[in-house]
Amino acid sequence: MSDCLPCDLEAAESSAIIYRDETWSCEIADGYDVPGWFILRLRRHAEGWAGPTVEELSGFGPVSQKLAAAIQSATGAIGTYFMSFGENYPHFHFLVIARGADLPPDSRGAAILARRADDRDLAAALTVGASVRYLLTAPTP
Ligand SMILES: [Zn+2]
Repeated sequence: MSDCLPCDLEAAESSAIIYRDETWSCEIADGYDVPGWFILRLRRHAEGWAGPTVEELSGFGPVSQKLAAAIQSATGAIGTYFMSFGENYPHFHFLVIARGADLPPDSRGAAILARRADDRDLAAALTVGASVRYLLTAPTP
C-alpha cells in the first residue's frame, strides 16, 4: 500500500474491478463502497490535468461515456456524477456516482458525498458493480 489510493487500486480484488484497459481503470474502492459509486482513474500515477498525456486523455472520453451508460443502465439512475477534486489524492481520477431519481434535493451535487458514511454497503456495491461490468463487456447488439 502506498499513500495514493488510486495507485493502490491497481491491486484491487477482481470482484472490485469494473473496467480495465491499458490506460484506464474503474474500481469499487474500500471506504467508498457505496452501491453505484466507482473510481475511474488513470492507471499510472500522474497528477492533475497536466499529468496525463494527450494520448492518454484521448481514451478518457469514450471510457467515461461507456461507463456512464452502463452505470445508468445497471442502476436506473437518471444521471452520473463525475467528480474530481484532486484534494486528498492528486492522482488523476474521478469519483463516478450514479445519481438516482429519488436522491433528496439536499443531497444533490457535491452534497452527495456526505452520504458516504451512512450508505456504505460492500456486498451491494459489488452486486451493482458486477452488473456494470457485465454491461461494459457484453457484445453490443
Ligand atoms: Zn497514484
